[in-house]
Amino acid sequence: MSIEGHSSAPGANVIVEHYCEHHDADGTRCKEWGGWGHSPSPAVPTRWWCFEHFPHKSYEQEQALRRKLEAAEGGKIIQ
Ligand SMILES: [Zn+2]
Repeated sequence: MSIEGHSSAPGANVIVEHYCEHHDADGTRCKEWGGWGHSPSPAVPTRWWCFEHFPHKSYEQEQALRRKLEAAEGGKIIQ
């Protein structure tokens, strides 16, 4: 894995790296980027998840994810 692309420009490291905080049952942490943050109040640090694990999706977002997963399922060859 490359770490190229990290800028050394002033202020570039202000953005904290936050990957999805979801853990599988066996303790393996999700490797997806946590692009979806949620905080119940300004006093609570924001938690981050990938889209698939984000627990605060709207109904429309849930439907979009479901369609995407079903499309992936349909791409498998079932014999
Ligand atoms: Zn995830």
